[in-house]
Amino acid sequence: MQNPSTARFADRDSTPELTAFRAEVREFLDARLPPNRRFTSHTLDRQSEATTRWWHHTLAERGWGAPSWPTTHGGTGWSVVQRRIFEQECALAGAPLMSAFGVVMVGPVIYTFGSEAQKAQHLPPILDGSLLWCQGYSEPAAGSDLASLDCRAARDGDAYVVNGQKIWTTQAHWADWIFCLVRTSTKGRPQEGISFLLIDMKTPGIEVRPLWSIDGLHHLNEVFFSDVRVPVSNLVGEENKGWTYAKFLLVNERQGIAAVAHSQVELERLKRYAGSTDHFASPPINDPYYAERITDLENRLSALEALEARALDAPEGSFEAAKLGSPLKLLGTHIMQDIAELYVDMSGPAALVAGGQDSAYGSFGAEVMTNHLLGRAHTIYGGTSEVQKNVIAKLMANL
Ligand SMILES: Cc1cc2nc3c(=O)[nH]c(=O)nc-3n(C[C@H](O)[C@H](O)[C@H](O)COP(=O)(O)OP(=O)(O)OC[C@H]3O[C@@H](n4cnc5c(N)ncnc54)[C@H](O)[C@@H]3O)c2cc1C
Repeated sequence: MQNPSTARFADRDSTPELTAFRAEVREFLDARLPPNRRFTSHTLDRQSEATTRWWHHTLAERGWGAPSWPTTHGGTGWSVVQRRIFEQECALAGAPLMSAFGVVMVGPVIYTFGSEAQKAQHLPPILDGSLLWCQGYSEPAAGSDLASLDCRAARDGDAYVVNGQKIWTTQAHWADWIFCLVRTSTKGRPQEGISFLLIDMKTPGIEVRPLWSIDGLHHLNEVFFSDVRVPVSNLVGEENKGWTYAKFLLVNERQGIAAVAHSQVELERLKRYAGSTDHFASPPINDPYYAERITDLENRLSALEALEARALDAPEGSFEAAKLGSPLKLLGTHIMQDIAELYVDMSGPAALVAGGQDSAYGSFGAEVMTNHLLGRAHTIYGGTSEVQKNVIAKLMANL
């Protein structure tokens, strides 16, 4: 039987082909997703490396390893609407998240700017998830001001020798490869001396140290490079032109972070929670204060959905796409945080977690709280909200 949100999304499909496509995705998810591989947004932070690899492999077997790539590179070639349907159905089914670092981030950089050899080597294992990636952009003294990065790559014969440090490197402890921004020149503007390198994490001289997050789990790392020799053939595009590729990647990253389909599913779930007499003697949805907050979120999410449709429709690398990446990230992440905060407020004492343990109300309260706390990071990674506002202001000034 369809749950209410499934019906709501399905009602919006405008053609029989789209209805059939949604049914095809749903059938696939029903058949291939066992209960122990299903998540809610409150448990996704516990998704393991094994589950991530398994999910990529499962999608690749079906030919869906890269929903956003063109067919020329092994992608699905889906339309904007098909991609949205796929994301909605995955979120509804509680499917694991794909690791964004390969499919969403470095893959498009490689097929757009990389050499034929790089495409042949890296695209197939990204498609089937046999190799996972991480992102080496941030450094201890280069976050928002990314162009000031100082991890050095000095040319020595047919290799670059890399020395320096990256930080906040999500999933570096799982990753087989890292894409790194490195300094190859100190002449001119800082942006002009940056290069984009693909580095095998097994290369001697790389050390990964864990950083523990507020949920008590290990997602983040520091990565240290000591005389790491990287073949020159692992340079993407031209030396000192890495800033161009880095910005191209950030547009895709920011669109992905907006997580529109997940927020849609989550808001529907929150509404059911708010109206439930299982959890509350007096359901919060009947309280005008909560009803107003829910309505506000619904309105903002509808606007975000329209904005996302424009962004997905824009050609990759176009000014239109670049223009929309920051507003999407900015609006989408604040919606995610506001949904998480509303769960906490409605849950009251049930969301109080002592010492990382589940509350007396069961694990749901603990999940609500850890999700809320971890979710503070949504407005930091991929560029903080203040940085997105600066980007938007600069773009508006140039219009
Ligand atoms: C959970 C998580 C995962 C991450 N994963 C990765 C990853 O996989 N790979 C990676 O490379 N990085 C990753 N990051 C790092 C992330 O990109 C940086 O944290 C982010 O860019 C901010 O940089 P910073 O932490 O150095 O803060 P800072 O740049 O020091 O900023 C501190 C504060 O100052 C504000 N600020 C800074 N400059 C300006 C300005 N010009 N105008 C207005 N306000 C400003 C910021 O908005 C922020 O509030 C991750 C971060 C988090 C939290």
